[in-house]
Amino acid sequence: MSYCVNCGVELDGTAHACPLCQTPVMNPRQPVDTFSPPPFPTRRKEVPPVSKRILAVLLSAMLASAAVCCGVLNLVLKPELHWSVFVIGAAIMVWIWLVPPLLLRGIPLPVRLLLDIVAVGLYVYLISRDVRGGTGWFLGLALPIILTGGAVVLFLGLVLQNGKRSILSGITIVIGAAGAVSFFAELFVDRWLYQCWTPEWSLIVVTICAALIVPLIIVRRVPSLREEARRRFHM
Ligand SMILES: [Zn+2]
Repeated sequence: MSYCVNCGVELDGTAHACPLCQTPVMNPRQPVDTFSPPPFPTRRKEVPPVSKRILAVLLSAMLASAAVCCGVLNLVLKPELHWSVFVIGAAIMVWIWLVPPLLLRGIPLPVRLLLDIVAVGLYVYLISRDVRGGTGWFLGLALPIILTGGAVVLFLGLVLQNGKRSILSGITIVIGAAGAVSFFAELFVDRWLYQCWTPEWSLIVVTICAALIVPLIIVRRVPSLREEARRRFHM
């Protein structure tokens, strides 16, 4: 049995060089065994990554089959309750979320997010058409919440897109955005239900968010704390 003169690793009899440090093996007492097969494969074989187009076709087929099956089931069982419209709408929404980014390369993030938000809005509009007083509910309550949520998602996408920000800043911004969304959500719900604004639960959420953000900002500002956080949480 030979050992590498450089790093000391035990060498197989068929090795021409150390597998770790590539130092050539020269042992006059034990020449390299050129007849036995090496104990590990010499060529690397990799499974090629799945093509995005195939993935897009697969996803489209899955969503389409779910939509068609539900549509047929609805027509056969209870045609008067058109519940399958919700499933078909959801399938179209998920398709808009997942498939265009796979097929269109280099599609800018704001355009992608805008498409996703429009898809959510259209789906909720589809639902609202089947709910009593639906269109009013959609325009008065759902649309403002979707637009606010969409604006926040767009803002987060643009701010966190380039990855230059530290994880601490990213977490701080996301927590702040969650607080803002809950604040506006309660504002719109109150305005829709009671025609006045009496903040309750959103204030609790905003307070919790603020209580998390303040220490995060302090940690980010103080270099010693920042280093400690980086070490402890492996950032
Ligand atoms: Zn070695």
